[in-house]
Amino acid sequence: MSSATPRRIAVLGAGGFIGSHLVPALLARFDCSVEAIDTDLSKLGAHDPRLQRRLSRIQEPGLIDDVARRSDLIVSLTALCTPALYNTDPLAVIDASYNDLVPVVQSAARERARLIHLSTCEVYGRRALDLEGRAMERMSEHETALFLGPVDRERWTYACAKQLLERVIWAYGSRGELDFTIVRPFNVVGARMDFLPGIDGIGVPRVLASFMNALLRDQPLELVDGGRQRRSFIAVEEFVEGVVRIVARPEVANGRIFNLGNPRNDVSIRTLAEELASAYRAREPGARFAGFREVSAESFYGPGYDDTSERIPELSQAEALLEFRPSVTLSEMLPGIIDDYVRRYAPRIALASADAAPAPQREAVLA
Ligand code: UDP
Repeated sequence: MSSATPRRIAVLGAGGFIGSHLVPALLARFDCSVEAIDTDLSKLGAHDPRLQRRLSRIQEPGLIDDVARRSDLIVSLTALCTPALYNTDPLAVIDASYNDLVPVVQSAARERARLIHLSTCEVYGRRALDLEGRAMERMSEHETALFLGPVDRERWTYACAKQLLERVIWAYGSRGELDFTIVRPFNVVGARMDFLPGIDGIGVPRVLASFMNALLRDQPLELVDGGRQRRSFIAVEEFVEGVVRIVARPEVANGRIFNLGNPRNDVSIRTLAEELASAYRAREPGARFAGFREVSAESFYGPGYDDTSERIPELSQAEALLEFRPSVTLSEMLPGIIDDYVRRYAPRIALASADAAPAPQREAVLA
């Protein structure tokens, strides 16, 4: 059964964006060992004798049972959480969000390990509606309905799979069979987020990496549907602090679902693009700037995409129980994020362009 101070923590998906920030924070805050599990741990820079790196898929037979047996806390972060995949590879998204994770919940319950599971604000769906279908300003854990779109709008496969896993966790917990906390992150951004297409990944990354990719390659920032849709962005450092408080306070956090986000950073995607471009140009005054281009969602993401018009977290529960009050503004966080992308990717982009065939020959091939 979980104790107030975890001695052995397993982090599933430790090599991803959030894991690479969370693992060092856990090691700094707790007198514990951390087993970091992922298929790629190159983003995880922490060096600590209490950190054990394990390169593995969570589906490896027997792995999760073993991990649950030797851990008093499991933090589950694994996901395929790029919207471009929800309507293009929905079965893989459902596997990663649901089928692969049911065994984690079952093992945690069986071995009496506490489970902190990262779900998503995406479960709230297209917009904030109360239980009678009336519009709400903010998305609240217990007062907002989960309003997804029709099945042919495959965007919602991710939300639906994540919601079903929340319900599985809740069912175990409410029957006294699992100590759990579910976290719903709202648009967490920061260093090491996602990938750049053609450099260390393929496809379309989340909006921040998409815009950084465009800026670094002197291409226009593409605004889906004009960029009118709004998001509330939170700095990854503040988000991770919220998770650390959940780890530290099982007596208030167990059996609950927490929104973690920053309602004060609610901006349109166009505003994000403008702020990012101007912070980038302040850092790289010589860079060419190709401006913005409006694109339709269908041409950008393909058929079956759908969107959330506005997504603002209600934080009163996290404030009351965790004293969680994120305060870093978008303009404060952007320079550090840009710095990380420029340092990691600018040399690789320069190398890739130098390696590319000269433009006239390429055109001849394409023609
Ligand atoms: N978006 C955009 N341009 C891009 C990438 C994304 O305008 O290059 C939009 C996308 O349509 C969505 C918003 O930005 O409305 C946020 O996208 P993100 O990828 O962060 O995922 P989401 O917040 O929808 O989960």
